[in-house]
Amino acid sequence: MKKIASARKARTISNPPAIPSVVVVGSVAQDIIHTPFTSSGLVLGGSAVHFSNAASFFTSVGMVGVVGDDYPLKDLDFLRKRKVDLSGVDVKPGPSFLWEGRYLENFLSRETIRTELGVFADFKPNLPQHYRSPKILFLAAIHPQLQQQVLNQVHRPNMVAIDTFKLWIDVAKPEFLKVLKRSDLFFANDDEVRWLTGEHNLFKGAQALRKMGPKWIIVKKGEHGSFLMGEQGIFLSNTYPISDVVDPTGAGDAYAGGIMGHLAAEGRLTENGIRRAMGWASVIGSFYVEGFGPDGLKQVTRTQLQKRYRDFYRMIQVP
Ligand code: AMP
Repeated sequence: MKKIASARKARTISNPPAIPSVVVVGSVAQDIIHTPFTSSGLVLGGSAVHFSNAASFFTSVGMVGVVGDDYPLKDLDFLRKRKVDLSGVDVKPGPSFLWEGRYLENFLSRETIRTELGVFADFKPNLPQHYRSPKILFLAAIHPQLQQQVLNQVHRPNMVAIDTFKLWIDVAKPEFLKVLKRSDLFFANDDEVRWLTGEHNLFKGAQALRKMGPKWIIVKKGEHGSFLMGEQGIFLSNTYPISDVVDPTGAGDAYAGGIMGHLAAEGRLTENGIRRAMGWASVIGSFYVEGFGPDGLKQVTRTQLQKRYRDFYRMIQVP
């Protein structure tokens, strides 16, 4: 098994690798995406890629994942340039994870056409030593057993944030509930809240989830924004309006990346800090849907991000 070469080269005995503030464990994929208007061809994908793309705007990130020997590693250079540490991404003989999906009805729903796991089927996260004491750990939507293995490899981070999806709630609910118990912040979409709690009302559902472990729940409602349920009650967050959506793939992971990155950069992991970070992450999400895969955010500058944040702030401020 190889590690990504340029990251390995950077390591010397006299110059130990820097500890990333945020570590993310998730999929590193290639996607093919069909929208109601066009198709993408092969683009970069995977939850860890989308998360890192966003979080690296604010802080240092260490990525953990696996790719096959067919993966276009050069295409990850934009992440390297933003100081994403890729030494936790293993390169194994075999095909990379490939996901193909189609959006229907003006992006209101999405169907999976194929999922070819390739080397991801045998993914065994093994964190490099310098990743084992991050401020923040983000466990993207991978099998809960893998999420637990990662939790067992780190010294308790200041914050553990997690994501999941329906498949894992269906096939591994007891394992997922154990991970939930060990987490501080859970990113759920509206359906997942209902599936996990049986509550139709999302606010009651989010309260019920808080009793299962995490102090904070962020419920994502797609283009209708999100809310945080925490000790101080409910905080509502809007999405920045985009008229020409190209591709929403990865926007959820990028939203989480924006929040975790901003929180880590502020340094104080408080509820008000999460509220502030949600505003920035909404803006990140709005850039994300403007291109295929990670492209919408790839070329964005800090100045553009700040400008859109100011516009957004004016839209939500009650005069
Ligand atoms: P999102 O749009 O936030 O749901 O994330 C989409 C990303 O998840 C895509 O880039 C896919 O490569 C990745 N993905 C799709 N299916 C899976 C899966 N079963 N496990 C891990 N990642 C996946």
